[in-house]
Amino acid sequence: MDRKQKKNLRKRNSNISLSNYETFMKFMRKGKFMMPYCQTCKKNIWPPSDYCTNCFNRLDLIDLKRQDGKLIEIFHSFVGKKQIKSNQSITREVDIIGLVDFTGVKLLGSINKTTYNYINTFNCQNLKANGLFDYSRVRVKLQKCGILENSLFYKFKLVSI
Ligand SMILES: [Zn+2]
Repeated sequence: MDRKQKKNLRKRNSNISLSNYETFMKFMRKGKFMMPYCQTCKKNIWPPSDYCTNCFNRLDLIDLKRQDGKLIEIFHSFVGKKQIKSNQSITREVDIIGLVDFTGVKLLGSINKTTYNYINTFNCQNLKANGLFDYSRVRVKLQKCGILENSLFYKFKLVSI
């Protein structure tokens, strides 16, 4: 066996031995979210594992960008943000944080402010009777993800339906 054959064999073996968790983390480091999915149950399974927790079939990994999420709740976060002083008033910079459900898997991440402002401005007719925003009329797409200071992070954008 020459060097090239050995290298190919090592590469093949390393791909075979990777668990779904290892593959998930490998993709996450490249900014891609591969969701563990059971073809039999038609469900996302979390945390990443090799087998379905419901039917024990082997799981596939599916690009989350192909799925729509449902917005459960939105929060305004001022943590770590500076105050902005204009003429008379002091306003604080804000991060929009969303809790999003991807068919059973709930993720907490930041919401793209441009899409948040757009939805709030142009879809005011979608307010519920109590004046709260009707999240059922909003779909969420994963925009960006990755690993920052050893933690997973997610950024979403809102799409009105
Ligand atoms: Zn299953």
